[in-house]
Amino acid sequence: MKISNLFREKKSVFSFEIFPPKPTADLSGIENTVSALADLSPDYISVTCSAGGSGNSRTAEIAGMLKKYGVEPLAHVTCGNSRAEDVEKTLASLSAAGVDNVLALRGDRIAGAALSPDFTHASDLVKFIAERAPDFDIGGACYPEGHPESATLEEDIEHLKIKVDAGVTHLNSQLFFDNEDFLSYLEKLKKAGVNVPVQAGVMPLVKKSHVDRIISLSGAKIPNKISRMIARFYDDPDSLMEAGIAYATDQIADLLAAGTDGVHLYVMNNAYVARKITENVSSMLAGVNKEVPR
Ligand code: FAD
Repeated sequence: MKISNLFREKKSVFSFEIFPPKPTADLSGIENTVSALADLSPDYISVTCSAGGSGNSRTAEIAGMLKKYGVEPLAHVTCGNSRAEDVEKTLASLSAAGVDNVLALRGDRIAGAALSPDFTHASDLVKFIAERAPDFDIGGACYPEGHPESATLEEDIEHLKIKVDAGVTHLNSQLFFDNEDFLSYLEKLKKAGVNVPVQAGVMPLVKKSHVDRIISLSGAKIPNKISRMIARFYDDPDSLMEAGIAYATDQIADLLAAGTDGVHLYVMNNAYVARKITENVSSMLAGVNKEVPR
C-alpha cells in the first residue's frame, strides 16, 4: 500500500522508525521487536539503512519481515556514497521484498568514504527513482531547525522544494523538542509552496545513551524543560524512562491538537517505549482521525 494514500485517508498518520540489526546478527531479537510493534497497529514502520550501502540488504530483509507481520514498510535508501547501479540493485531487492514505499536520502557523511559519482543531493535520488522505478512512493527528509549544512533555514527550504518537486509525496521531519519550531516551519513550507504532508519526528529521550547521542549529533535545540529532565534524571534510569515517555506524549498531544499531518516516532527498536506512548495517545489519535483529512 502506498503511504501517500494513508495521508488521503487519515487526518493524522502515526508511524514508527526502527533500524536493522548488524549484518552478522541473528534475526530473533528484531523479529520479537517487529512482532511487538505490529501489535500496536502503526500506520507504517520505516527501516533505516547505512549511508555506505553496507548492510542495506538487511533493510530489505526487515522490510520483508514487516510485511509478514502485516505492517506497511517504508525502506530508507541512501545515495551519497553509492553508484547508480548499486541503487538500482537496492531498489530491485526492495521491490522483490514487496516494498511499495521508500524514503530517499543523501545519507550521513562517512569520513573517508568515496562520494557518489552519480548523486550529490537527495533530490538527485528522488529524480532517479521517479524515472527508473516509478512504482515506488517516494518520501523525503526535512529539517524544522534547518539542515546543519545549510547557511539558513530559508536556503534549506529552497533546496527542499527542489526535492519535493522532483517527486516526493510526503516528508518525515528530523526530531525536534520544541513544537513551536515545527509549527512555524510548516508555515514557512506553505509560503514556499511545499504542499506535501509533513510528519513530525518525535524522539523519546528515555536513555542516557540517547541523551548523549542526540545532544552531540542531531543539533536539535534543547528546551529548558529537557535540560532540567536530563540534569535531574541522567543517572536514574527508571525516572529518565518515565520522564522521557511523558515528554514525548505531551509533545504528540500538542502536535495532534495543532492538526499536524502525522507523527513519526523514533522508537530506537524499543517496543516498551513504543507501547507506552501509543497507549497514551491512542484515544487522541482515534479522535482526530474521525475528522476528514485535508
Ligand atoms: P539532502 O536533501 O540532499 O540535504 C542535505 C543538505 O544539502 C542540506 O543542507 C540541503 O539544504 C542541501 N541541498 C539539498 N539539495 C540541494 C541542492 N540542489 N543544491 C544545494 N544544496 C542542496 N541517514 C542515513 O545514513 N541513513 C538513514 O536511514 C537515515 N534516515 C533518516 C531519516 C530521517 C527522517 C531524517 C530526517 C534523516 C535521516 N538520515 C539518515 C540522515 C540524513 O541522511 C542526513 O541528515 C543527511 O545529512 C542529509 O540527508 P537528506 O536526504 O536530507 O539530504
